[in-house]
Amino acid sequence: MSFKSLGLSDALLKAVSKKGYDTPSPIQEKAIPLVLGGKDVLASAQTGTGKTAGFTLPLLQILSKAQPLRHRPVRALVLTPTRELAAQIYDNVKEYSEFLDIRSTVIFGGVNQRPQIATLRKGIDVLIATPGRLLDLHNQKALSLAKVEILVLDEADRMLDMGFIHDIKKVMAIMPRKRQNLLFSATFSKDIKKLAGDILNNPVLVEA
Ligand code: AMP
Repeated sequence: MSFKSLGLSDALLKAVSKKGYDTPSPIQEKAIPLVLGGKDVLASAQTGTGKTAGFTLPLLQILSKAQPLRHRPVRALVLTPTRELAAQIYDNVKEYSEFLDIRSTVIFGGVNQRPQIATLRKGIDVLIATPGRLLDLHNQKALSLAKVEILVLDEADRMLDMGFIHDIKKVMAIMPRKRQNLLFSATFSKDIKKLAGDILNNPVLVEA
């Protein structure tokens, strides 16, 4: 199996080869075609399985197929529990989108908001965020989620463990109802299944 046979565009294949990846990992093999096909995905995957590229590559391809919207409102949101994880995903998004006309940024708490607000004002296609800072900046009208087409909940189990359930629910309420949803979790407790049931639409189950 090759990245090309998964249906990725030349710009993304170039970025993948620049990263030095030869073959897709199992989660990438399964998730990439499903996401490209517009499906909601419920994925069981630990860190280290290549899950980040598993959702980032197809997400970038979907966004790059359409003309950027005027003012470039956020079209893809990746929610993640910690600032370390957010920064890591952002690094990946930047690398994979090197040959695409896609703007991305990351926001998390514990640092000055002003530079984050200034970047958001310029227009962003892909936003990686921790829930608290996301809601904070939304309350300040520094960003809108009204045009989100794709939502990724990464490490959903850790987000619940850290008590983000109410924040996640608030974020859901400020996004369009019609959107594609991807949920990644290492474990599947009753609470995760409930969250998945609330958020995902006929999801396809994928295991790493
Ligand atoms: P992740 O599980 O997304 O945190 O990725 C774990 C590590 O695997 C990261 O350092 C990635 O850069 C790397 N990686 C992701 N996909 C591949 C691949 N197909 N081949 C080789 N390395 C990969």
